[in-house]
Amino acid sequence: MAEGQIMKALSGFYYVLSEGRVFQCRGRGVFRKKNVTPLVGDRVVFQATSETEGYILEIGERQNELVRPPIANVEQAILVFSAVSPDFSAKLLDRFLVLVESKRIAPIIVISKIDLLDGESKEEIARYVHDYRRIGYDVIETSAVTKGGLDELALRLRGRVSVVAGQSGVGKSSLLNALRPDLRLKTGDISTHLGRGKHTTRHVELLEVAGGLVADTPGFGALEFDQIELDELPHYFPEFRMYGEGCKFRGCLHIAEPKCAVREAVEAGEIPSYRYDHYVSFVAEMKERKPRY
Ligand code: GDP
Ligand code: ZN
Repeated sequence: MAEGQIMKALSGFYYVLSEGRVFQCRGRGVFRKKNVTPLVGDRVVFQATSETEGYILEIGERQNELVRPPIANVEQAILVFSAVSPDFSAKLLDRFLVLVESKRIAPIIVISKIDLLDGESKEEIARYVHDYRRIGYDVIETSAVTKGGLDELALRLRGRVSVVAGQSGVGKSSLLNALRPDLRLKTGDISTHLGRGKHTTRHVELLEVAGGLVADTPGFGALEFDQIELDELPHYFPEFRMYGEGCKFRGCLHIAEPKCAVREAVEAGEIPSYRYDHYVSFVAEMKERKPRY
């Protein structure tokens, strides 16, 4: 018996990576009775029947499970935001950060296309980089053109399972291609989904990139907060977590409560006002949504 991780599921076969080799496996045994369907990303125990084939005996407990793309045990999300073209959107980034934090996945912020920055836009991006780093986020600036920041990105990918997320056109495919040219992911068109056309069969695959595994389909497609309760939201803003300890009321939502340390920190300029504005608009969005049942 051996251990491995499912890289790809296709036509009833699971492709299990184990010590650098891939085994084409069928499912068998206990997990079938338990009604568990193996997912890409699952850690499995399998029995090899030849150098390239085998069958899966057991699925390990999952750390987490994403729906879009369907994949288990994602450790980190590479949130790619271009500095320009499309313009950097802190609000969209904050939305992704909330979604990622709510899944207990570690975010890494990548600001791409920095070769396109000039004087004024350079300063603006530098301010954002400074703000997000101050909150405690890991921020990398990259360019697929000059190859700047690629070594840093490669270091983060190594030995981990990652999902890449971000708007179409921000340069996700270009970054992966720059790290591993033989991937030849399609780039450039608006319909690009990390190289996958819209009408091809949807299946997800983990690609080996820079010594780690990266999902070939971008994550967090729907971008909705429907899995998150309102009272959890403040926890997904790390700086609110910190300042919030000084609020008068436990469970303070930092909206209209008196003696709110978070609002005081915003007024004092210690928390960027745009972060707070985004939070307020997310609260409003969550209050407006229809009840789930
Ligand atoms: P994706 O949709 O996020 O996968 O984005 P792509 O990788 O397809 O890139 C979209 C467009 O941006 C393409 O025309 C790329 O050539 C361009 N692009 C990607 N990365 C960079 C970069 O670092 N610098 C510049 N100048 N252009 C880039
Ligand atoms: Zn408060």
